[in-house]
Amino acid sequence: MTTFADLDLRPELLRALTGLGYEEPTPIQAEAIGPLLAGRDLLGQAATGTGKTAAFALPLLQRIAPDGSAPTGRGPRGLVLVPTRELAMQVSEAIHKYGRELGTRVLPVYGGTPIVRQLKALQRGVDVVVATPGRALDHISRGSLVLGGLDVVILDEADEMLDMGFAEDIETILDGAGEDRQTVLFSATMPSRIAALAKRHLTDPVKIELAREKPAEGEAPKVRQTAYIVNRAHKPAALTRVLDHEEPTAAIVFCRTRAEVDEVTVTLNGRGYRAEALHGGIDQEQRSRVVERLKSGATELVVATDVAARGLDVDTLTHVVNYDVPAAPEAYVHRIGRVGRAGREGVAITFAQPREHRMLKAIERLTRQKIAIEQVPTVADLKARRLELTRASLRESILEDDLGQMRTVVEGLAEEFDLMDVALAAVKLAHDASGSTADEEDIPQAAPPKPRDRDRDRGSARGKPGGGKPHRGLDGPTTRLFVGAGRAAHVRPQDLVGAITGESPLSGREIGSIQIHDRFSLVEVPEDSADLVVTALRRTTIKGRKPQIRRETARHR
Ligand code: AMP
Repeated sequence: MTTFADLDLRPELLRALTGLGYEEPTPIQAEAIGPLLAGRDLLGQAATGTGKTAAFALPLLQRIAPDGSAPTGRGPRGLVLVPTRELAMQVSEAIHKYGRELGTRVLPVYGGTPIVRQLKALQRGVDVVVATPGRALDHISRGSLVLGGLDVVILDEADEMLDMGFAEDIETILDGAGEDRQTVLFSATMPSRIAALAKRHLTDPVKIELAREKPAEGEAPKVRQTAYIVNRAHKPAALTRVLDHEEPTAAIVFCRTRAEVDEVTVTLNGRGYRAEALHGGIDQEQRSRVVERLKSGATELVVATDVAARGLDVDTLTHVVNYDVPAAPEAYVHRIGRVGRAGREGVAITFAQPREHRMLKAIERLTRQKIAIEQVPTVADLKARRLELTRASLRESILEDDLGQMRTVVEGLAEEFDLMDVALAAVKLAHDASGSTADEEDIPQAAPPKPRDRDRDRGSARGKPGGGKPHRGLDGPTTRLFVGAGRAAHVRPQDLVGAITGESPLSGREIGSIQIHDRFSLVEVPEDSADLVVTALRRTTIKGRKPQIRRETARHR
């Protein structure tokens, strides 16, 4: 088992990881960090949720850390290309967190926002730029982003970038970066055009393929497996909502980091659960006590990291909850192996963010079992369940027949009110006293990314007028938007994709066909997002202009 300490990382980086509560490297980190520190190029197949960001960011930070040697040239030393604005911010934040002690300056650079602030920041000097390809190219042509000093170039989610029409931009950028740089390419899938890109721009790369799918017969236990797709912000509420519904007798809630274990434990206790934390920062004695309490039923929930739960064997366990999708499918199998033993029914519940949907698929392939995506119980579901509980308690109370003392109260009230009204008021009081219904809002179901056939190479249908068919079959009704700028204004499909994904909650894969005509362009988007996209695009500029944006009228068809 590799530890972070085995990986030859600088103490500043190791301290950052400890501070973040990472207990051990994920498989992709264990495999990638060594070769990257040794200066190798790398071609890695890994999806979101595997820990790939740290896998490339830590060696990047180590390589460019100030160690007395002068930087090789002007401009940033690291460039990370990512498909979307959201990812640019996320990766940039991660690099900043890991490199805090080293004082590394990181700047996210993406389209759809005014360029001036980015220009100023670049002028002041940065060490790492995390950029979407279109905006990166924009800065390169303005001279504000210089590629000559780059030591490391990283392509993150390369398949996604190609899907979004950034192939040409990426080629241009890679051609402009110095020959002796290190190049790293991560992609969730490896279609042939990614292999071709790697062949052209990577030198003798180490190849890492994460999802080694070699399911051993009978390895996966029989467990009811469900998943909920929710955004990060809604996870704590979704967890308690689902636990309220499931009412586990004994459960382990798995988290990725110590910090998360602590947070979730506090959340659960705050909501009336008896939950105890178990992670590497807790001493052995306390740890044994927690395990004992879980076994004896004094504790119903233990919140744990994988490392801390290793070897934990509790026969009475009914539920395994994955507060995060585990970084490797094998870890999932290991986690849920703790329930469903000896013929008892076990339940595995996984909370996944929309981006982690692919990890669920990888797990399904490994276990050869289906994970059912379910809706988080709604407020109405929960209310109905609580009412049912109140009804059951009232029924019990009537059957117990110890209501003598109450008789005078009811008789007194019955002289004044209808007996039915008296009963209603009493039930309401009992119900209200049984639990809070405050702060309950429905938890939005986050849409999983639309499935698509990623492994088939597809020539870009984008940008060709007349190709009226949806580019990637959006499910459900769509609408076309009219954008009053086209080829004459040098608008390219990727400019529109960049503006839409940058300004609205839509991801690249939710955008359908794009047609660029001379004086206008047409973009297909899901009908129910059309107004949102129109409003968002009106706030921004496209190729420095503010073109007219509206729903398409029939005459453009
Ligand atoms: P990524 O796949 O890079 O998007 O990372 C997914 C999540 O895992 C992020 O929230 C990281 O902070 C977290 N993470 C990455 N590496 C580790 C690790 N070794 N231990 C715990 N959490 C990690």
